[in-house]
Amino acid sequence: MPTTALALLNQPSRSAPPHRNGAPAVELVDPTAPHVGVLDLGVTRGDGVFETISIGNGAPQALAAHIRRLARSAASLELPEPDQDAWEEAVRVAAAAIDPVPEGYVKTILTRGVEGDGRPTGWAYAAPADDFTAARRDGIRVVLLDRGYRHDVAQTSPWLLQGAKSLSYAVNRAVLREARRRDADDVVFVSSDGYLLEGSTSNLLLRVGDRLVTPGTHLGILPGTTQGDLFAFAESRRLGTEYAMLRPEDLLAADGAWLVSSVRHAAPIRRVDGTDRPVDTELTTAVNAFLVGRTE
Ligand code: PLP
Repeated sequence: MPTTALALLNQPSRSAPPHRNGAPAVELVDPTAPHVGVLDLGVTRGDGVFETISIGNGAPQALAAHIRRLARSAASLELPEPDQDAWEEAVRVAAAAIDPVPEGYVKTILTRGVEGDGRPTGWAYAAPADDFTAARRDGIRVVLLDRGYRHDVAQTSPWLLQGAKSLSYAVNRAVLREARRRDADDVVFVSSDGYLLEGSTSNLLLRVGDRLVTPGTHLGILPGTTQGDLFAFAESRRLGTEYAMLRPEDLLAADGAWLVSSVRHAAPIRRVDGTDRPVDTELTTAVNAFLVGRTE
C-alpha cells in the first residue's frame, strides 16, 4: 500500500455537471501526477474551501462535522453546494488506501474550478500525520497578534469571509513566520477591539476552575470540530462548558490553556508573549488520549 493516496471527485456538487459522464463518483489516482489545471481558480485566486480531517487508527475523525463545515464554508463563498455523500466517500476511500498508520490526515479541497467552466474541482488527499508528541506533551509558546478586524466582523462585513475555511490561508502561514521571529510556535489572534479569537489553524480552549471556556463562534472564527468534541468530552466528565467573550488577561489567568485542532489535537500553551504559564498536564493527557482514540 502507498504512504499517500489521492481520491478525485467526478462531480463535487450535484448542481454542476460531472467532469466525465459515466465515471465513478470517486476515483483513486496517482497522487504524484498532476491533476489540477493551471487556470483552476483554487490555484490562481485561492477561490475554494478545504478541510483537514484527522485519521485515528484508520478512521476519519469527526467526519460528519467536517463535511457539514465544508458545506457551510462553500455556502459563504457561494460555491456550488457540495454533494456531502460523495465527499464522505472520497474521504473514506482516501483514508483506507494508505498504509495503516496510528495517525494520519485527509485534506479535502473544493475549488470553483477553471474560470468559466462552471464545474468545481474536488479531491481528498490522505497522508501520515507529522509527529506532534512534543507539542502535546511539552506545550507551545504563543504570541498574541492583532487580526485587524473587530469582534463583530462576521456580522458587519460577511464578504471578508471570516469564519469560513477558505483556501486563502497565506495570512495564516504568514503569522507563523511572525511567531517564529518572536521566538514562539503559534499565535492567538486578537480582534482589533481586544477579544481573544483563535489560533492560526486551531481554536483556543481555557480551563477556568471546573469549566472549559472558548471564544464564541459569532466572533468571525471557525467553529472547531475538535473544540466541539472536547465540549462533549468535558460534559461526560462533569466539567462545565461555555462560549464567552475573552480578553488576553483571561488567557494569562486561566488554570489551563490549549490550542486545539484536528491532527495536532490539544497543544497546551506554556508561554504567552514571553511570559510562562502553567500547563495542566493531567487534563492535557486525558484530552489527547480521548482525541487520538476517537473512532468517528
Ligand atoms: N480555526 C482555524 C482558523 C482553523 O484553520 C482550524 C483548523 O484548521 C481550526 C480553528 C480548528 O478546527 P478543527 O478542530 O475542526 O480542526
